[in-house]
Amino acid sequence: MKEDIREVLINEEQLKNKVMKLGKQISKDYEGESLTVICILKGAVMFMTELIKNIEIPIEIDFMDVSSYGNQTTSSGVVKIIKDLDSSIEGKNILIVEDIIDSGLTLNYLMKILKSRSPKSVEICSLLDKPEGRNVDMEVKYVGFIVPDAFLVGYGLDFAEKYRNLPYIGILKEEIYLS
Ligand code: 5GP
Repeated sequence: MKEDIREVLINEEQLKNKVMKLGKQISKDYEGESLTVICILKGAVMFMTELIKNIEIPIEIDFMDVSSYGNQTTSSGVVKIIKDLDSSIEGKNILIVEDIIDSGLTLNYLMKILKSRSPKSVEICSLLDKPEGRNVDMEVKYVGFIVPDAFLVGYGLDFAEKYRNLPYIGILKEEIYLS
């Protein structure tokens, strides 16, 4: 796996520190409130499990699986719900936890769906943000790192289901995804 990585962009320590900071900020912002954290499968799993360890208020968790990319590296613009939430979000504070925002199409679509279910509030926490790829305006309350327009893997992010278990965020060598 390691030989397919061109460069480590964000190392384990940087990830740990940032996730801790985000958890603290979220705990402060939602103090005295309850919170439902929605993990977007599968890319946000590692981030979400680390993040919730650093959230110091009572939370519930739920999972949603949507597809927009398949095995390719560019957004199709088509977003499909593969797995919906288990519970109603009506009247609840919702925090969507995502791995990366590129075009913004996935989260834009998800926000519309979730807002139509009458939650008390909906915010986004994305580990990574690629602003250069943006197609739609998105308000993202919590962002871990602004990243360049390269194809990233590791810490939950995959290419064709591989590399999710790398403990860092790396730039995948072009010859891997262009071959
Ligand atoms: P968007 O709809 O914002 O264009 O895309 C968001 C989704 O695209 C992410 O949840 C992720 O699955 C995928 N994605 C975007 N950029 C990358 C990347 O650099 N690496 C990986 N592995 N997935 C990406």
